[in-house]
Amino acid sequence: VVKPPRRSGLARVAVLGGTTLLILLALLGGWAAAQPTRVVVDGQTRYVPSGTTLYDLQKSGALASPKGRLVGVNGEVLLADGGFDPSVRRNGEPCTISQRLFPGDVIESRPGTDRRESVILTDVPLPYRTRYEGNGPLTEMKTLGAPGVARQTRGLVSGFEITSTVLTKPTDTVIVRSRPSGKVVALTFDDGPWPGQTDKILDVLAEEQVPATFFMVGKYASRYPGLARRVAREGHDVGSHSWSHPAFRELKAKAIRREINRGRQAVEKATGHRTAWIRPPYGSMDPLAWEQVRELKVHAVLWDVDSRDWSKPGVRRIEKTVMRQVRPGSVILFHDGGGKRAQTIRALPQVIKSLRKKGYQFVTVDELYQLKADAKSQKKAKAAESKQSKDS
Ligand SMILES: [Zn+2]
Repeated sequence: VVKPPRRSGLARVAVLGGTTLLILLALLGGWAAAQPTRVVVDGQTRYVPSGTTLYDLQKSGALASPKGRLVGVNGEVLLADGGFDPSVRRNGEPCTISQRLFPGDVIESRPGTDRRESVILTDVPLPYRTRYEGNGPLTEMKTLGAPGVARQTRGLVSGFEITSTVLTKPTDTVIVRSRPSGKVVALTFDDGPWPGQTDKILDVLAEEQVPATFFMVGKYASRYPGLARRVAREGHDVGSHSWSHPAFRELKAKAIRREINRGRQAVEKATGHRTAWIRPPYGSMDPLAWEQVRELKVHAVLWDVDSRDWSKPGVRRIEKTVMRQVRPGSVILFHDGGGKRAQTIRALPQVIKSLRKKGYQFVTVDELYQLKADAKSQKKAKAAESKQSKDS
């Protein structure tokens, strides 16, 4: 059996002393650590807790220099402190923000640099319009339009547009407005059938033996089918003026198609006549409306002479307005419905008389299109003939 060596009294004192020393040292260390560190920040002496980093210093607002600013693409300041942190030098050397401070450090800050906002790219459609060639009442689509595309560069925060680059140019819808040659005119009546007015106009036309074209509002044609039928029976041409008379410009594609189809069906049902003529209410057409007209294979019939009878300017004035604008192949706009048309009814015999005096013949819209088609085919035949004679 080996007995553990007995500790001498001296050794015991040494162990005790060592432990005490360690405790004292630890206490001293703690005391030292708790002592504030004396540093100079931007020329000012400060005492900061031991272990303080430059980051803490900046957060506490001790640095004299501010952060940079966030600047928009247009130069406007979006955020005063939205830029980069101030740059800091310790004892004349550049240093990182996570470093601890030591007693006696001299810190100098410089303002942070500005940050420029990010940009965002967006592709936006470029609108297309309707362009008309000529000013005749008969219409035909020459070019189907399409929107273009532009790429916009904008500030992400400010939304400010810096550049816009056209990727694809828009194509305008091109409508050719033509008229046949020859001393003919077409009288047209909108907004009926209207009891007490359409019948009176029919009486005048019968008396004068003049054919005309009636663009009927679908819901009135189905409300007054007898009157609508009389129009067709007396040899006049019929067309549709939509179902309920909205401005096509304000409608979506589907609604335009519904107005055209329903209006046309109502007129056809009431009169027993098929029709491909649609007169847009208010003449209101935009590229979208022209597209629907094309897809539904109908013809939009406009006018080149507005009698302005709807403004009730007086019988003489209506007649004068017509005679001032009329030319061969004109389509003249009157109204048999949509309000009181007593002036129209009274002006009509005088208008007819004046037009006759000038040598005009009266035709329907159908005949106008026919005349135009004939002229076209004659022109073609002539061209072919001259080519043949050249060849032989
Ligand atoms: Zn109308």
